[in-house]
Amino acid sequence: MKSMIALCLTIVSLEAFEYHLVPKEVAKGVHCFFGTPEEITKENGGNMVNTCFVTTKEGFVVIDSGPTYAYAKQAYTAMQKIVNLPVKYVIDTHDHDDHWLGNGFYHQKGALLMGSRTYEQNVQAGMPTRMEKVVTKETYAKTKIVKLDKVVASEYNLTVGTTQLQIKQLVDTAHTKGDLVIYLPENKVLFVGDLVFNDRITSLRDGSVIGSLKAIEMIEALNAETIITGHGYTTDKTVIKHQKEYLLALKEGVQDAIDNDVSINEVTKTVKLEQFKDMNLYKELNSRNVFEAYRELEFYDEDE
Ligand SMILES: [Zn+2]
Repeated sequence: MKSMIALCLTIVSLEAFEYHLVPKEVAKGVHCFFGTPEEITKENGGNMVNTCFVTTKEGFVVIDSGPTYAYAKQAYTAMQKIVNLPVKYVIDTHDHDDHWLGNGFYHQKGALLMGSRTYEQNVQAGMPTRMEKVVTKETYAKTKIVKLDKVVASEYNLTVGTTQLQIKQLVDTAHTKGDLVIYLPENKVLFVGDLVFNDRITSLRDGSVIGSLKAIEMIEALNAETIITGHGYTTDKTVIKHQKEYLLALKEGVQDAIDNDVSINEVTKTVKLEQFKDMNLYKELNSRNVFEAYRELEFYDEDE
């Protein structure tokens, strides 16, 4: 009896994390899995990020591969239920690990991996990841870091079947130093990665408030009809407006503080941006963003 219980426990603990991924069609031939707008936790297994797939005549193009091997495998199973096709390419929007730790699975399936220069520079096989520090060993099982097959430095046009995908880095530094957007001109769908957040506060830990605002202007100019952000559920143009409001308030608040000789140690006490306090992750990220914006704006001259 005892050994039976032990065996059952072993089987349960070896079972991979169940992500319950349900694809949602956001435009013709474009589906996404939407994660919850929160931080990485043991409970969500890193499913706090959005990943998508574009169906072409030749196969799927996956945009961001998600937080773990198990996630990518379950996403693949869900894709095959829609239509039985191979995954041809995976395009990673940037080098934050919630967006690409599923790459290893797709690499095994023969997909070509594409991403930004910063992935090439910052992502090394065997390095510890933010994800594995939080999720359980079982959830993270088989997750491996793999190299890209192609780096997109500034711009690249990819045609798969008859579907065109324009991949582009809009500015040097925005959310990170290597953010790619992917545009499908045929149905005006734009994947913006973490250049735009919705339903939660953005994170500027590797980025720039000035660069983020520049990127937002360029995204606006593309005039896309559907905009898929790296986090959050909304996919229409209103996402741009909300992100812009937060970034402008952040920039103006911090600039005012600098002009009034508020020190970097005091700035989070004076710039609170309370109008955004009901947004998800305000508590976790707003002070850090204020601090990072101060470090950037302290030496920034608008006229330069
Ligand atoms: Zn992200």
